Amino acid sequence: MNKNVAIIGAGFSGAVIANQLAKAGYQVEVFESRSHVAGNCHSERDKETDVMVHVYGPHIFHTDNERVWAFVNEFGKFNSYTNRVKAITNGRVYTLPINLLTINQFFGKTFRPAEAQEFLASLGDKTIENPLTFEDQALRFVGRELYEAFFKTYTVKQWGLEPTQLPASILKRLPVRFNYDDNYFSHKYQGMPADGYTSIVEKMLDVPGVTVHLNTVFDPALKGDYAHVFYSGPIDAWFNHQEGRLPYRTLDFEVLRETGDYQGNAVINYCDNAQPYTRITEHKHFSPWEKHEGTVCYVEYSRQCTEKDIPYYPIRLANDKVQLERYLQLAQNETNVTFVGRLGTYRYLDMDVTIGEALDAAEKFLACASENSPM
Ligand code: UDP
Repeated sequence: MNKNVAIIGAGFSGAVIANQLAKAGYQVEVFESRSHVAGNCHSERDKETDVMVHVYGPHIFHTDNERVWAFVNEFGKFNSYTNRVKAITNGRVYTLPINLLTINQFFGKTFRPAEAQEFLASLGDKTIENPLTFEDQALRFVGRELYEAFFKTYTVKQWGLEPTQLPASILKRLPVRFNYDDNYFSHKYQGMPADGYTSIVEKMLDVPGVTVHLNTVFDPALKGDYAHVFYSGPIDAWFNHQEGRLPYRTLDFEVLRETGDYQGNAVINYCDNAQPYTRITEHKHFSPWEKHEGTVCYVEYSRQCTEKDIPYYPIRLANDKVQLERYLQLAQNETNVTFVGRLGTYRYLDMDVTIGEALDAAEKFLACASENSPM
C-alpha cells in the first residue's frame, strides 16, 4: 500500500495534517513555496529590536475548542494574553469591541447595562428583519452613528468594497457588549505562544516521517505519485485559474522602529478617513513578559491582491458566489486531493478553526485508509 502523502503548504493546516499522518506511519512530504514554515502566522525576532514580530500581521490565538487548545499546547508554551483593541475615530480614542464604555463615551452618557441595551435597540433599524449584508447587520444592531464611526470607513479601507456588498458574517465576528468587558474575543482560551507561532509549527513538523521542502512549488501533475494530496494553497491556483481568478485582499506593512513605547497598546484601529491605513500593531505588547528597549510597529494597509502578492483574505461577496461554486465543484470532483484551510476552501478562518478542521481531515483520511475506501 502506498503510504506517501504530499501536503502543499506548511501553515497550520499542512503542519497539523503532516503531524497526524506521520504519527500514523505515513511518509509525508510537505511542499512550501516560501522560505519559512507557519504561513501567514509566521513570527520571527526583529533583527534590530529583538522583539517577536508577527511578520504577516497580528495573530492572537483564541478558542472555545478544548481539543484544539490541548493540541496546540503540546507544541509549546502559550502565555496568557488578552487582546484589547483601541479605535480612533473623529479624533477620539475608544475601546473595541463596542462595549458599555464605548457607548457611554461615544454618546456622552452614563448608562447602566440595561439602559444601554435599550438605547442601542432604539437606534437599530428594526425594518431590517433578516440582515444579509454587512451594512444591514450594522444598521440593525448598532444604528447609523456607531456604524459610520467605527465600521463603515474601516471596512471600505479593509475590503475595498462598500459594506452593502459584503456579507453580514464579517461583522458577526465582533460582539457588542453591554458591560465593561473590552476583551476583543469571547472565547474561553486566549494566549500567545511564548516562542512565537513558527516555533509551534516547526515542532508539529518535527516528527519522523515528515520531510519539509521549503522554496518549492508543487506541480499538481505529480499528484499521481502520492496516495493522497492535502492542498492548502489558493483553490483557484490548483485549477490553474481556469474559472478566472478569485479575489483576495493582500496587506502591505510600513515598518516603524522607535525606542520605548510607541502607542501603549498592541493594536489600534483607525476607523475614519483621516489615515489611509486600517491599523497599527506594536508587536512588543503581544509579549508583555519580555522587556525590550526598542519597539517595532507595523502600519497596515489593505489592497487588492495581484498575481505577485501573498493572498490574505478571501473576498466573499454577499450576492455573487457563482465563480466560487464552480471551484468548489471542481474540488469536490478531484480524486485523491483534499482542500484545506483558509485558501484551500476560500473562507475567512481563524487559526483555531483551521486547526480543528485539519485534525478532522487527518482523522477522516486515516479512518478511510483503514477501511481501504477512497475519501
Ligand atoms: N471592523 C471594522 N472596524 C474595526 C474593526 C473591524 O469595521 O475597528 C470590521 C472590518 O470589516 C473587519 C471585520 O470587522 O474586516 C472583522 O474584524 P476583525 O478584527 O475580526 O478583522 P481581522 O483581525 O481578521 O482582520
